[in-house]
Amino acid sequence: MPECKIQKNTSVCTCTYEPCSRKGLCCECIMYHNSRDELPGCLFPPDVERTYDRSIKRYLLAMQGR
Ligand code: SF4
Repeated sequence: MPECKIQKNTSVCTCTYEPCSRKGLCCECIMYHNSRDELPGCLFPPDVERTYDRSIKRYLLAMQGR
């Protein structure tokens, strides 16, 4: 069974929502946001990530601006 990489993941996680209990637990992070039709914060550019809007619509808008 692969070892959990929570410490390494947390050290590189770009999500600024600090109270989150899923930080570094990428599998739970993805499942949580996917269940809400959202994407994980690390996929968003920093200025959009800080809004905590994780919607797919907001992601696509952000990517159009690149
Ligand atoms: S993206 Fe969402 S679930 Fe993942 S660490 Fe940030 S707030 Fe938590």
